[in-house]
Amino acid sequence: MARWDNPGIPHKGWTLVGCIDLGEDVYDDDEIKYETCEMCHNDRIRYVHILTHPDYPGQIHVGCDCACKMTGEYKTHQKDEQRLRNKANRRKNFLKQEWYRSRNGNLVLNYKGEYITAVESQGRWRCVYRKRWTNRYHGQPITDLNILKLAAFQAFDEDN
Ligand SMILES: [Zn+2]
Repeated sequence: MARWDNPGIPHKGWTLVGCIDLGEDVYDDDEIKYETCEMCHNDRIRYVHILTHPDYPGQIHVGCDCACKMTGEYKTHQKDEQRLRNKANRRKNFLKQEWYRSRNGNLVLNYKGEYITAVESQGRWRCVYRKRWTNRYHGQPITDLNILKLAAFQAFDEDN
């Protein structure tokens, strides 16, 4: 049963907590684990809008259309989602780039006139961009080149 049909669940008066892209930490879009909108049961939600309500315990995960109806804000959610979509496109483009191996064995990416260098040592990856080192992704050491590229994108994107 969709929650819209459940009389115990408020339809209005929800507050936005945040909007997330389930593809954010995924190197390949095929691996995205889509969620189901908890209100209408649409099962291909990539951009999840997280809402709370004083009369509902915890948080609810819904798609853009339901989020608009539930908070009564018809622009915010679309804007949030567009921002995440744009970022996802930038990430996709970044991940498509070819890194080359430098003479000392590091990997180097020349992207939009900037250089990012990736260094591997004892199974741990780190990268340097504009003299700032990144050696973790979501607080975890980086043990995989694909994760390193996601971390490098994050560092690059935050600065541009
Ligand atoms: Zn929905």
